[in-house]
Amino acid sequence: MTSLSPLLKQATPVVVDSARGCWISGTDGREYLDFTTGIGVTSTGHCHPRVVEAAREQVGRVIHAQYTTVLHPPLLELTEKLGEVLPPGLDSVFYANSGSEAVEAAVRLARMATGRPNVVVFQGGFHGRTVAAATLTTAGTRFSAGFSPLMGGVHMAPFPYAHRYGWDERTAVDFALRELDYLLVTRTAPEDTAALLIEPVLGDGGYLPTPPAFLEGLRERADRHGILLVLDEVQAGVGRTGRFWGHQFADVVPDVLITAKGLASGFPISAIAAPTALMERGWPGSQGGTYGGNAVAAAAACATLDVVRDEHLVENARVRGDQLQAGLRPLQQRYPGISDVRGRGLMQGVEFAQEDGSPDAAAALAVQQATTGHGLLTLTCGPAGNVVRLIPALVVSEQEIRTGLERFEAALAEVLA
Ligand code: PMP
Repeated sequence: MTSLSPLLKQATPVVVDSARGCWISGTDGREYLDFTTGIGVTSTGHCHPRVVEAAREQVGRVIHAQYTTVLHPPLLELTEKLGEVLPPGLDSVFYANSGSEAVEAAVRLARMATGRPNVVVFQGGFHGRTVAAATLTTAGTRFSAGFSPLMGGVHMAPFPYAHRYGWDERTAVDFALRELDYLLVTRTAPEDTAALLIEPVLGDGGYLPTPPAFLEGLRERADRHGILLVLDEVQAGVGRTGRFWGHQFADVVPDVLITAKGLASGFPISAIAAPTALMERGWPGSQGGTYGGNAVAAAAACATLDVVRDEHLVENARVRGDQLQAGLRPLQQRYPGISDVRGRGLMQGVEFAQEDGSPDAAAALAVQQATTGHGLLTLTCGPAGNVVRLIPALVVSEQEIRTGLERFEAALAEVLA
């Protein structure tokens, strides 16, 4: 009998029969509150009626119209709609299917536009699983172990992880910026460096918000050295953090922005945006792909952006995120195994440590697995796997957050009491 590959690692035993809003109905007859959203994808909740209708309508018109062969209205409309939310100056968009593909497209663009080979990434960043994206990923050796050699030209600088060093944020930011400056004189000279690539909130690397002062320091260095600042908004973008883009907590505009996941509520589409003048420094045909900017996915993305605007979901993510964090924080006093609660908006992480301060992956995994039993779906993350992440849909209600908190505490009590 054929079975799914053992190379997949299953976070829950749930098989989904159907799903609506923040809820998943399992084939086991149980209802689960979904605080995973397909790893931050179903932004407007499962099967939002407007997204379903847009996709259904598009399926009856044209499903696939390869965008370098013929164009189609959903893609043109999506490009216009993105123009309403993209940071100023990023007026040119290229579409792909997945986050990893878009990350690769951004690296190709940065290399072509600058004529420089190297990319600097920040420790703990996650940028995808294709070989190039895995090279850029430093969120855990499990994302690249065993299939080297990876892509060349990637250098890693420290991330200002204040909590890990027991420092205040300013000290951590100063340290990380000084180390970046040192990297630019010891390993990759500015004239060899095409891009600084960073997430606004480290996602798979542990749900760590990037301090605004760090992003501002990166912007200053990028300007000084003619290096491009590339923001990977694949997980943090489209409202999840309580701002439309996760980097908007800082006073910076990136040169290249990467988006995917929440953009189309579950349909695969990703994009990079940059100033036209920057895109023009590459050559026509240097980017492409068979399925990129698929018509049904583009129609779903248009509907998603409309719903995010009309239902004030960025604001909801901020308010419900504050509620979630305010409910999680006191748990740290009640359960000493919790070493940190952090995040932005509806991207909250609960970190577990042993008494000596070392990461407690076993506790995080046990809690994550126990939440399933209590009717709440969660995931783990972090290089050591010692963080449980909570990523509800942006439509989550006050009552659903309360229910989620109750179920999360029930799992904590079961595992840690
Ligand atoms: N960048 C970030 C920040 C991500 O969170 C992810 C996915 N977790 C990716 C890139 C890769 O996206 P995909 O899995 O769609 O290739």
